[in-house]
Amino acid sequence: MDDATTKDIWVFGDLRNERLFGFSLNVLAKARELSRSVGGKTAVVIFGPSDDEQEEISTQSSHIPVRIAEKEYVAHGADKVYVIENGDVIMPGSEIYARSLADLVRERLPMLVLFALTDFGREMAAMTARISNAGLIADCVDLRIEENGIKGVCPAWGGEIVAEIGFSDYHGTGFATVQPNVFSPVEVPGQPGDIERIQSKHVDEIRGLKLLDRSPEPAERRMLEDATVVVVGGAGLGSSDGFGMVRELAGALGGEVGATRPPVLQHWVEEERMIGQTGKTVKPDLLFSIGTSGAMQYTAGIMKSKTIVAINRDPNASIFEVADLGIVADAKTFMPLLTARAKQTVMRKLADVLTDDKVVQTGEDGFGAKIEKLRKGQGWSRESLAEATGQTPEFIA
Ligand SMILES: Cc1cc2nc3c(=O)[nH]c(=O)nc-3n(C[C@H](O)[C@H](O)[C@H](O)COP(=O)(O)OP(=O)(O)OC[C@H]3O[C@@H](n4cnc5c(N)ncnc54)[C@H](O)[C@@H]3O)c2cc1C
Repeated sequence: MDDATTKDIWVFGDLRNERLFGFSLNVLAKARELSRSVGGKTAVVIFGPSDDEQEEISTQSSHIPVRIAEKEYVAHGADKVYVIENGDVIMPGSEIYARSLADLVRERLPMLVLFALTDFGREMAAMTARISNAGLIADCVDLRIEENGIKGVCPAWGGEIVAEIGFSDYHGTGFATVQPNVFSPVEVPGQPGDIERIQSKHVDEIRGLKLLDRSPEPAERRMLEDATVVVVGGAGLGSSDGFGMVRELAGALGGEVGATRPPVLQHWVEEERMIGQTGKTVKPDLLFSIGTSGAMQYTAGIMKSKTIVAINRDPNASIFEVADLGIVADAKTFMPLLTARAKQTVMRKLADVLTDDKVVQTGEDGFGAKIEKLRKGQGWSRESLAEATGQTPEFIA
């Protein structure tokens, strides 16, 4: 590490979708506060396509257009935005991004580079710090700059202790991942901002990669926050197959799948499904929490649920403190029974519709119309009802 860093604080800007972009605005607010406290500047580093590729990409995906991001970052306090144009390889990839970012860090010597705590942010921070041979403070909920260096405030042991962590070499650039939901974006009207475009030097090194296709996030993935039923799986499910039981119950109930952090880290489920301080906040009428211990970073995201049903084999698990109904059971044996019962209930409701039908089964009063009414009343999609009843979606009205 160099011992002549500037007083500047940088933020890695994630443009993959609005939520992640919002996280980087939150982290930018903290970066600005820190840089101002030591008389430095704030910069955001983003990766984007060149002008020619820009329009095509922004119309095809949830990616935030670079031109809009630049303006927003400046309006939220960035003194400078570095745009690293990454030529042919325009999909986010830590291999190129980290090397390009490390090059820029070596040239411009910021004091600290912050990343929002997401899967990609964590990966980028670790790789860039490693290439830069620098220290990384992980999972900060706060940061301070003191006379003898930077201090990160970081929960550890599932939030049971709070550790203060610093860099052993406080003259070089430091890296940190930051919980994004702890900070709020701050608008800085009239802020003059400078944009600098830089060509990535590392595209040639991974010529083996080629972007084949890109598509927007499917609509059903965005429904978690508005779902009336959510089934959350945790580490207690034990494996990707075990997590499949969560999907099956959610399918039977016409609900959405959620997860704690471990299943996301294990790649049993996509990151967009994570609930909690660094994930999404849900507010369903009914939430099942299965194989989750009840860490406060997770429960912060479920407290708006009307009814919480927790299933855990440990009677002392803290999830039972926030649950309305607690079931002490092994998920492996209990979940198949619960799912079978949920499916039976759906079938019984359908059977009731059938036997109750005293009118001719055509038009508005017909079986199809009643099924449709029942389905919509329950907020079930055609696909989920088909899954729950073992029919094909074409059969379901
Ligand atoms: C800065 C920071 C931010 C974080 N943000 C988040 C966040 O946004 N969301 C989040 O979820 N986490 C977050 N975490 C992690 C959080 O602290 C916990 O580590 C995590 O929520 C634990 O997930 P879990 O309950 O699934 O796993 P564990 O804590 O490992 O709990 C697993 C539970 O499953 C039970 N179990 C095991 N086997 C079975 C079985 N067969 N049947 C039934 N029960 C079983 C166990 O008794 C245990 O209670 C964050 C942590 C930090 C430090």
